[in-house]
Amino acid sequence: GSTIGILGGGQLGRMLAMAAANLGYKTHIFEPGSAPAAEVATAWTQAPYDDLDALRTFAQACDVITFEFENIPAEALDVIAATTPLFPDRRALETSQDRLIEKAFLRDLGLKTAPYAPVSDDIHEVLETTGTPAILKTRRFGYDGKGQARVMAPEDAETALASLEGAPAIAEGFVAFSKEISVIAARGQDGAVAAFDPGENLHKDGILDTTTVPAAVPSSLNIDAVLIASKILNALDYVGVIGVELFVTPQGLIVNEIAPRVHNSGHWTQAGCAVDQFEQHIRAVTGWPLGDGSRHANVTMENLIGEDVTRAASLAAEKGVQIHLYGKAETRAGRKMGHINQVTGPA
Ligand code: ATP
Ligand code: MG
Ligand code: MG
Repeated sequence: GSTIGILGGGQLGRMLAMAAANLGYKTHIFEPGSAPAAEVATAWTQAPYDDLDALRTFAQACDVITFEFENIPAEALDVIAATTPLFPDRRALETSQDRLIEKAFLRDLGLKTAPYAPVSDDIHEVLETTGTPAILKTRRFGYDGKGQARVMAPEDAETALASLEGAPAIAEGFVAFSKEISVIAARGQDGAVAAFDPGENLHKDGILDTTTVPAAVPSSLNIDAVLIASKILNALDYVGVIGVELFVTPQGLIVNEIAPRVHNSGHWTQAGCAVDQFEQHIRAVTGWPLGDGSRHANVTMENLIGEDVTRAASLAAEKGVQIHLYGKAETRAGRKMGHINQVTGPA
């Protein structure tokens, strides 16, 4: 097919649309709000995800559909999948959009997660499973650390719980990690899997700040990370790019969460790999062979958050810096406005 539909019109959709154009495809964005992707796409349907008629018309106009946004209602996906191939599929999205389902899925695969329990009225009983410190997280809709509350000691529990305002939540035991890494991997329609090298992630105020490759971890952990991602991809019979966030601990890798889409911590691939994560995803959903994931450069990706974007011009003057700006009309504190990839040397 020649038109790729993308649910979600943020910066991830924008970079997917640009990658699609490079392969000769048209793109059609479906996005309820403002859409940095719309101006680089061929078409834009601006409608809410519960407008099933608009979704049906959108689906009929596309040859294959994917998404860059996790909080799409399952019914919307059903309407789409009735007429048009959808990659990744509904199961992949449903598994990752609810933290309780996600954790149970990972456990069933034999992977390690933080100790967890669904939050119930008796928060102290819940904390017996997780221990303290713990983190309460809403089951759905959380990103950039939003919808989370820390419980340092049992006496903090009521205040933390109240801050979630009754949203369904899970409690997780606090993992004493030494580093956070993530692995971006892809699976094709033929079941072939390719992974990029794990990156090391630093967060600031709950938002990803930098990703550096190579991650400064023993090579056995890099291999473990890739095996974990492959296991998840195969279990979901997944097609497309996935992001898997991991904690490094003395007991090995613990899976934090999975994102069924291209991932902010994979932006370094634009400067580090012949086929970046965006082209890789487009290749997967359209049935092209995957890039092999190999890396030719060491890279640090830095997000430009809010007013950071004013530094773009001076950063552009530095050697080995690639600039990506998302064309968002308004600069707001905490908003991802762009990122840079700094090439620090050959791989
Ligand atoms: P994202 O923007 O990556 O989707 P999110 O809002 O879904 O983030 P998480 O990734 O679950 O949230 O948590 C945000 C950060 O909080 C993690 O990257 C990690 O630094 C810290 N964190 C989360 N869970 C735990 C835990 N169980 N133990 C220790 N730290 C944690
Ligand atoms: Mg998340
Ligand atoms: Mg996360």
